Amino acid sequence: MSATEQQPAGPGVVERHGRALMPTFGVPALAFESGLGAVLRDTEGREYLDLLGGIAVNVLGHCHPAIVEAVTAQVAHLDHVSNFFATAPQVELAERILGIVTPGGAPEGSTVFLANSGTEANECAIKIVRAHATATGRSDRILALTHSFHGRSTGALALTWKEAYRSPFEPLMPGVEFIPANDVAALEAALTPDVAGVFVEPIQGEAGVLPLDDDYLRTLRTLTERTGALLVVDEVQTGMGRTGKWMGHHRSGIVPDVVTLAKGLAGGMPIGACVALGEVGHLLGPGSHGSTFGGNPVCAAAALAVIDTIEEDGLLDRAAELGHWWRRELRATRVPHVCDVRGRGLLIGVQFDEPIAAAVVATGREAGFILNAAAADVLRLAPPLVLTRDQAASFTRALPRLVTTASEA
Ligand code: PLP
Repeated sequence: MSATEQQPAGPGVVERHGRALMPTFGVPALAFESGLGAVLRDTEGREYLDLLGGIAVNVLGHCHPAIVEAVTAQVAHLDHVSNFFATAPQVELAERILGIVTPGGAPEGSTVFLANSGTEANECAIKIVRAHATATGRSDRILALTHSFHGRSTGALALTWKEAYRSPFEPLMPGVEFIPANDVAALEAALTPDVAGVFVEPIQGEAGVLPLDDDYLRTLRTLTERTGALLVVDEVQTGMGRTGKWMGHHRSGIVPDVVTLAKGLAGGMPIGACVALGEVGHLLGPGSHGSTFGGNPVCAAAALAVIDTIEEDGLLDRAAELGHWWRRELRATRVPHVCDVRGRGLLIGVQFDEPIAAAVVATGREAGFILNAAAADVLRLAPPLVLTRDQAASFTRALPRLVTTASEA
């Protein structure tokens, strides 16, 4: 067998996973061997419709030819050189990100730091906020929202709301205060002139697909401009077309100071980006931050293929239209125990009136759907943007039975 031929995963992968990998994710439900488009195949040869998309990552689906070709060509040409040197894919990617991060392109002076994950992109944003605090004589106070998720490193974790994630690892980065989302009065009370920055997600995906109001985002932008705090918008989950726009905040019309990206950026290859807009673009100078792999040309080539394909195949409009239609269908189906269907584009939360989401994930798996419970009572759908209407409809048809079986279990 040649090196490029795929070895069958073989039996016992899940058991071996349990022995060899650190058990931070618990026991995996399945082992996958291959994928194509929105369909995954497990090691037993069974197929599943992937409605999780690697947690909002596989925007072009699995093994999209554009990514396969870009990665294959790049890795055969130039693989890695370190950040002591420039490569064309790295530079072109930063330029393309600056072109899509705000409608009409990023303001003069904007720059990109390329990292390897969403957490790292947010760590870079934290440093920018701290550099801003030092430069302007502010305190280390940073505001984040209740129900937020910004990552698991000790900086990003300090900005993450869930007590169970944070408390075992305290003390974390000091200075973070949580305020309730969509509450302007609470924002006004907390946002005193000493605050260095505010972190928000346009839709809180990990918390159960909880959207921020566009009006709240606009007020937040006005108030942070007034006090001089930096506004950081975490687009790790909502960026790259997921909501039907390049960025989840585009609907609101605001221009943040910092935007962080990852997940869908390279469609499955590891990458993150911290975009500093306007004069914030030069707050971190030589020696202030780094990454060995950040901007790796192979991952950058994959990201360029993602951006090109989203543009060429009209996937922003497709995500918006399919998502709108699907949410309407899901509501119209009047599924037992479903009391709300929310979200934007192809980031959808199905709210149950009971904590049955994990049971629905299990019955869904039996029926050939890969699903995710973002909360005990919320199913999160974050499929590839290439999902077809027929594939979406097959889930809508199956859902009443999945829920009924789950609620009777
Ligand atoms: N920020 C948001 C909004 C996320 O949803 C996530 C991951 O789920 C992260 C940050 C962390 O990204 P990563 O897991 O790539 O480090």
